Amino acid sequence: MGFPAPVWCGFAAIALLKVDAVSILIRCADGSVQASVKSERGSEEYAVRTGPPGGAVVTATCSCHDFRRRGGLCKHGAAVALMAQREQVGMAPRILHEL
Ligand SMILES: [Zn+2]
Repeated sequence: MGFPAPVWCGFAAIALLKVDAVSILIRCADGSVQASVKSERGSEEYAVRTGPPGGAVVTATCSCHDFRRRGGLCKHGAAVALMAQREQVGMAPRILHEL
């Protein structure tokens, strides 16, 4: 179980968690989460919404430029997914051991 969080945004996502940039706002019954994530410099805040956990792929939308330009999963979405998972299972996310 758990999120197979992609390595390419894992480092940045963990960095965001370490500085407490992620605030989970709403936790839906299906496990999806709405959160706000501060940028590294703390000057901006992005709205992130993750899909329900448990699937093979982490899905998240974000209001940052990176997500709008590239799509897929940005570091903010990955950080929220990791945070949601960590709170849910009460332990460090699996990606920490993979890196
Ligand atoms: Zn983002």
